This record gives sequence, C-alpha cells and structure tokens, in this order.
Amino acid sequence: MTFADLPTMEAYMANGKNTLCYNYVLGQCTSQFCHYKKGHAPVDTITEAFANEMVAKLDVPFNQWGGAQAVAAAARRAGAQE
Ligand SMILES: [Zn+2]
Repeated sequence: MTFADLPTMEAYMANGKNTLCYNYVLGQCTSQFCHYKKGHAPVDTITEAFANEMVAKLDVPFNQWGGAQAVAAAARRAGAQE
C-alpha cells in the first residue's frame, strides 16, 4: 500500500494533487515545518466517509503488523504498573 491508496478529501486536493497530511489526520504530525501543513485538516472537516475508508484501508496492515496484540500488551503492562 502507498499513500496513493489512501482516501482523499476534495477540500485537500489542489490541481489534482493530494495535499492532505496523513500524519496530522492520524494525530501524529507536530512538525511546524511540515511540507503538507496546508493539509492539516481540522477534525470538524473530516467526513464520515473519509474516516470509514481510512479505517478500512488501515485495518488489514495494522493487524498484519500485530497492532491489536501490541495495543493489548501495552494495556496489560500499563495495568500491571498501577
Ligand atoms: Zn503535517
């Protein structure tokens, strides 16, 4: 999968090019020098269709990577430290 496979939003297309910052949309881009800073879409501009498509696209690689197990293990470790 590449960035080209991810869903886009019309408001973040310019001359046929996607300007969306996926790091930001997924909650991780904190760079003040981000090349895609104009694509830091505020949460209220994220459409339901976009969010559903993102989840559907990322679900398979997340689980192949073992993400669900990693999250569960981290939660167990956090619980053990309380
Ligand atoms: Zn960014």
